[in-house]
Amino acid sequence: MAVKPIDIHIHPFTEEAVLGHGPSYTEAHYNFFGRSPEAPHHGKKHIDIDATYRTFKEAGIDKAVIVNMVSYNQWGRAMPNDYLAIYAQKYPDLFIPFAGVDPHMGSPALREIDRAVKELGCRGLKFHPAYQAFHPDDRELMWPIYARCVELDIAILVHTGTTRMTRCDITGCRPLALDVVATEFPDLRIIMTHFGWPWTEEALAVCWRNENVYMDLSGWLPRYVYATQPIVFQYMNTVLQDKMVFGSDYPAISPKVWLEDFNAIVKKGYDWGGEHHEMKPQVVEKFLRGNGLKALKLPGP
Ligand SMILES: [Zn+2]
Repeated sequence: MAVKPIDIHIHPFTEEAVLGHGPSYTEAHYNFFGRSPEAPHHGKKHIDIDATYRTFKEAGIDKAVIVNMVSYNQWGRAMPNDYLAIYAQKYPDLFIPFAGVDPHMGSPALREIDRAVKELGCRGLKFHPAYQAFHPDDRELMWPIYARCVELDIAILVHTGTTRMTRCDITGCRPLALDVVATEFPDLRIIMTHFGWPWTEEALAVCWRNENVYMDLSGWLPRYVYATQPIVFQYMNTVLQDKMVFGSDYPAISPKVWLEDFNAIVKKGYDWGGEHHEMKPQVVEKFLRGNGLKALKLPGP
């Protein structure tokens, strides 16, 4: 592969991550994602960070955004962001850490953002509205957090669409909730995940009208994205060619498997509007790398 991909969305599956994230996360991964024999964590309780590093290097991935999710209030425990820093310090050639903060914590959340960025070297934050029980357009809770992100010039990766996380409410995961955030914080780089399914059209609409919004197709094999929402490939090839970014959602899917599946679609082309279309090579390059560099504000090429 000539392009060196940037994976915008991966999770640690280390012992401390599994223990820290609690039952909502482990139920999703042990009982659902990990059931697939193809899943990297199939039959495993956890995966150490060295094995994760090797998986990404073997798949030819250049950089990977590794995220933490923190929900003290909801689950009474979390993985400290310090572990992300340990992973990234061990493998700085690969990992770009995105910290987790619990939005319900108020000013301690703001202090943790400062610490995560200035002391731990994190480059962004990850939010999961269902797991963390909040709505992204909750002004009282979230506006101070977004303002701090703009001050620190960091990006946010926000879960959109349904989720396999258990015992939580998905109403905060609608992509539309991010539109007002994007318009009121035009300097905040927002990456929506999972093409917002089943609210894909909302995700496309929000991404299309806001310069600062990106979206990943993580957590789904490309063949299923295409099967449920072929419009995603048409938009990737045309109006949203500067906005869509590659993400695997490892350990749900291995980056190698994701990329092989994607390359099969690139090779065959796709059908849209009663016609067959070829993916443009420059679009594929932007999707796998260029747009990720832009969303993360990393120097090119
Ligand atoms: Zn994820």
